[in-house]
Amino acid sequence: MRGGLQTLCLAALAACIAAAAEPVYDLLLRGGHVIDPKNNISAPMDVAIAGGKIARVAAGIPPAMARRVADVSGLYVVPGLIDMHVHVYAGTGVKGVIAGDQSVYPDGFSFRSGITTMVDAGSAGWRNFADFRQRVIERARTRVLAFLNIAAGGMGPEGEDDPKLLDAEAAARVAREHRDLIVGIKTAHYKGPGWISVERAIEAGKLAGIPVMVDFGYLDDVRNLATLLTEKLRPGDIYTHPYSGHREELLPEGRLNPAMHAGRRRGILFDLGHGAGSFFWYVAVPAFREKFYPDVISTDLHTGSMNAGMKDLTNVMSKVLNLGVPLEEVIRMTTVNPARAIRRPELGRLETGAEADVTVLRLDRGNFGFVDAAGARMHGSQLLVAEMTIRAGRVEWDLNGRAAQDWTTFPYKKGTWRR
Ligand SMILES: [Zn+2]
Repeated sequence: MRGGLQTLCLAALAACIAAAAEPVYDLLLRGGHVIDPKNNISAPMDVAIAGGKIARVAAGIPPAMARRVADVSGLYVVPGLIDMHVHVYAGTGVKGVIAGDQSVYPDGFSFRSGITTMVDAGSAGWRNFADFRQRVIERARTRVLAFLNIAAGGMGPEGEDDPKLLDAEAAARVAREHRDLIVGIKTAHYKGPGWISVERAIEAGKLAGIPVMVDFGYLDDVRNLATLLTEKLRPGDIYTHPYSGHREELLPEGRLNPAMHAGRRRGILFDLGHGAGSFFWYVAVPAFREKFYPDVISTDLHTGSMNAGMKDLTNVMSKVLNLGVPLEEVIRMTTVNPARAIRRPELGRLETGAEADVTVLRLDRGNFGFVDAAGARMHGSQLLVAEMTIRAGRVEWDLNGRAAQDWTTFPYKKGTWRR
């Protein structure tokens, strides 16, 4: 009996060693804490990647099964972050506008803050989207999707006010032509009369079957928040910059405009969109006290915001964390929630077979300062830092070289620049 058991054990061991001889995974993220809100997972687990896809998410995956092992103990392993509001139409050569020098190139700012998917929020319009596509999107390693501006030239020199430029049919046609990239319609910064920009954006959204994101621009006699959120927008449409206070989101007595809650009840989604002028503590603190949290945390990245209070996505996430939102919810607001808002349910999850977009985050505790769009500081005790960013299985950002080999055993090819 005892001998039989021994033989069995040896056979199992031999099988195990045979399996170990040929690693089946390209990369194993080992010892981390997985947060995957889509699947209600928040637990210690390993993540194995093979062929650019998630191969397995489970506790105790043997390290011998992987060609590379990254020790991520003490860290959080989450789906690749989605920044649903950025401006990345760079390289046009146009000065002083978002569709130009105020944009940044995606790869320079995505991976280092844990982002694998960026969604441009209307930098290009229906007349210049093809240029945006070839100039930026197709050259980026970051996955870049876009809201198409209802204004012909997007956020270019012609602006977003002239009714002649706001063409629902043209926008819908371009959105359908580029349906692999265009996830919605945007209207922004409108200071013309009445509801033309919102109505044409919604018309384009209806024609193309996609949601609309509204930066509500400037209020006038007829244009007000209650009408927008309770009559004009459709459930699933997106209101960006809710903590700006520019459109009476916060009433003078310091409580939130009831239209905000009414909009949420109707299914309007709220996108944080920090930017250079759209997130203020004096609005966010009372709003969060009323439990009015964003559905999606985003940066509104451009050259103006990133060097001011906004910084980057992990900084904005840290702000929300320090306002009392649990980490799991902060991850939800940057993974599954934006994936659903842009109707790309295949993104923002860690499931076997999904494209391996994975982010590893460190949560530091200490004394930190967080600056809003006015330059006002709030003290916080928690700071999220992007440790690793993996896009389609490829390590694009690795702050501490966790997936890298130690230099003493690294197979340098001396005399060449290539390893
Ligand atoms: Zn924006």
